[in-house]
Amino acid sequence: MILPPATLGMLGGGQLGRFFVSAAHEMGYKVWVLDPDPNSPAGLIADRHLVAAYEDFAALDELSANCAAVTTEFENVPATTLDYLAKFIPVHPSASAVAVCQNRIAEKTFLADNGLPHGPFAAIRSEDDLRNADPALFPAVLKVARFGYDGKGQARVASLEGAIHAFHQFGGEACVLEKMLHLDAEVSVVLARDEAGNVRNFAPGENSHRHGILDVTIVPARLSPALTEQACDVARRIAEKLGYIGTLGVEFFVCDGQLVVNEMAPRPHNSGHHTIDANVTSQYEQQVRALCGLPLGEPCEHSAAVMVNLLGELWYEADGHYREPDWSVLHAVPGLRLHLYGKHHARPGRKMGHFTVIGADPAKVLAAALAAREAIGIQDGEH
Ligand code: ADP
Ligand code: MG
Repeated sequence: MILPPATLGMLGGGQLGRFFVSAAHEMGYKVWVLDPDPNSPAGLIADRHLVAAYEDFAALDELSANCAAVTTEFENVPATTLDYLAKFIPVHPSASAVAVCQNRIAEKTFLADNGLPHGPFAAIRSEDDLRNADPALFPAVLKVARFGYDGKGQARVASLEGAIHAFHQFGGEACVLEKMLHLDAEVSVVLARDEAGNVRNFAPGENSHRHGILDVTIVPARLSPALTEQACDVARRIAEKLGYIGTLGVEFFVCDGQLVVNEMAPRPHNSGHHTIDANVTSQYEQQVRALCGLPLGEPCEHSAAVMVNLLGELWYEADGHYREPDWSVLHAVPGLRLHLYGKHHARPGRKMGHFTVIGADPAKVLAAALAAREAIGIQDGEH
């Protein structure tokens, strides 16, 4: 067991890393963050920020010499980096688990090989793969296999011609072609798994997106008890098959009353932010606990919760004028907690912060959160 005041290492300096740093500090640990961005949100509050590339072996040596264990908040950390660090100190999740989640072809193949529910897809490495793909996949979504996020690196394509065009637009990179599914809803399960194989999951969240980016998460998801149980069970099986240690997010689509896995995130998940405010143990504390070999915490929620993401466009008035939103509007809402990530510049689509509304009555919490969302200036969207 790694106990305070040990120092933990974090690869990646985004908001997920920042919340990990806060959770670890709260528990008495120190944290070193490695991220090339000198203004990274986690780096700003870390005990030490190594401003270096993920493949900078001198920086990795410094990290491993000073940390008792290392984790990540970013699925695109090169597997070679994780493997290199693992020669010296414990690294969780492992390079092999991260490698499955960071490549959509490996991810879908993993689901298919393990009999886990997933939508129809084809692996695309060449134009010929597109020509040979089942025509029943159209209309489809073409997604680059690596480095896509928040809807980036994706194109909706009606036909083979459209898919070929999009494939070339993506530079001929490896892709997956997914059948476009009619979604009744999107839900996610965040869980933690420890070295002994114990798994504790949070209640599923119900997610809605705007322009491909998570907008609102409602917890608990408005899902039947049977589907709730099934989602938790599938997420657990994924963690077990990956030999996963740490916090894992699993995204699902609900189509025609059936669950299919969309994708996995080998790290805390945006749809688990509310666990900071609404649960006995947050997803970030679970990540600390799993990394350090502590018993996993009690995940249960003490409140219903609705989380709303605050994206960079909120900083721009209709005429393009840049200004800080009036946060007093949100602070006036009972049961609302605001989290801002300290990012230096807002650009449209960039995740700048979020707020969570908690309370006893799910319907009232949802109404209060949507009213607050509108009051701060976020328009449209369906919930
Ligand atoms: P990201 O890495 O950007 O989160 P996702 O694969 O989760 O990528 O896609 C983002 C969103 O796009 C999903 O949450 C969903 O709303 C929509 N989407 C993705 N794939 C499909 C699909 N096959 N059918 C219908 N909608 C999809
Ligand atoms: Mg996604």
